[in-house]
Amino acid sequence: MRSFHCLCGSLAFFENTQCLSCSKELGWCPVCQNLTSLVAVADKAGHYRCGNAECGSLLVKCHNYAVESVCNRCCAVPDSPEKPPEFCDYCRFNDTVPDLTVPGNRENWRRLEVAKRRLLYTLDLLQLPYGRQEDGVDPPLTFDFKADTTHKPKWWWSMGREERVYTGHAGGKITINVREADTVEREKARVLFQEAHRTVIGHFRHEIAHYYWQMLIEDVAEAEFLKVFGDHKNPGYTEAQTRYYKDGPVPNWETRFVSAYATMHPWEDFAETFATYLDMVSVLDTATHMKVAESCDPTTATLPDMLVRYISLGVVLNEMNRAMGLTDLVPEIFGAPIAAKLQYVHDLVRASKRPTSVAE
Ligand SMILES: [Zn+2]
Ligand SMILES: [Zn+2]
Ligand SMILES: [Zn+2]
Ligand SMILES: [Zn+2]
Repeated sequence: MRSFHCLCGSLAFFENTQCLSCSKELGWCPVCQNLTSLVAVADKAGHYRCGNAECGSLLVKCHNYAVESVCNRCCAVPDSPEKPPEFCDYCRFNDTVPDLTVPGNRENWRRLEVAKRRLLYTLDLLQLPYGRQEDGVDPPLTFDFKADTTHKPKWWWSMGREERVYTGHAGGKITINVREADTVEREKARVLFQEAHRTVIGHFRHEIAHYYWQMLIEDVAEAEFLKVFGDHKNPGYTEAQTRYYKDGPVPNWETRFVSAYATMHPWEDFAETFATYLDMVSVLDTATHMKVAESCDPTTATLPDMLVRYISLGVVLNEMNRAMGLTDLVPEIFGAPIAAKLQYVHDLVRASKRPTSVAE
């Protein structure tokens, strides 16, 4: 991730909505692709100029920024008399947002949006294709952010109805249970499932992998997939899932899989590996922008180069985390079998680059 500057010269970060130094409002300008100071236009309520002098585009805040306070992006005001879009380039993918009358849901939704913006930033960085139905993209990408609900019975003789929300992907729709944004609940689940990491961004990186499996592999490149990850049809997913929850992961999985969950089925192995690849891209991109020595540009480097740099950065970052009593930042052991799977993901990502980025 890049870092940015307010008009006053202070550093600003991707998630910020206000400069910590001069209190100016900040927002993402979709025209110059920067987090910039928002300069209010005197005679036009709700309109701003992008603070980047070379850009100066006329902007309005995304509805989820102006009204809901869960976004920090803006929409460009078109030159034509047309109205600017209500939702920004990232919020337009939301199909369902949680019930905001329930205490805690807004804060959890905000955390989900923070992670979603990071995910889409990385997809844009890698120029991976994604879009809604109206963009002609198949499968169309959408997000449902929902909470488990208990519908109280209306009449004393009727039954209550419960809806359990499962985090997952189906046909382009990524559903995330807002409980995953609750730090206490998420940490409980992490300990219960013996996971090295369980993060909100991690869920997005895992589920988007299933999206890309459907877009880039299913029915078009399954033979190549099979050679690296094994036969996803035998055993089938349900059978593999039942076996995993009964017997647990295969012994000594650490040398061949990036996580215990990856051992369940080739689809989950791919998703966990893809998510690890996005972790690596994000860390290397941040390190490059922060001018950390020994980093490399993850959009152009070879996979072996990226791995060498990520492993050496990981040694340092893990020790830093241990110094602070935190879990390891890079918990994986990158042996040859895991490197081969990452190479597959790397080749898939590079071959799938969209011709021009969405912003162009
Ligand atoms: Zn400032
Ligand atoms: Zn701009
Ligand atoms: Zn937005
Ligand atoms: Zn999965």
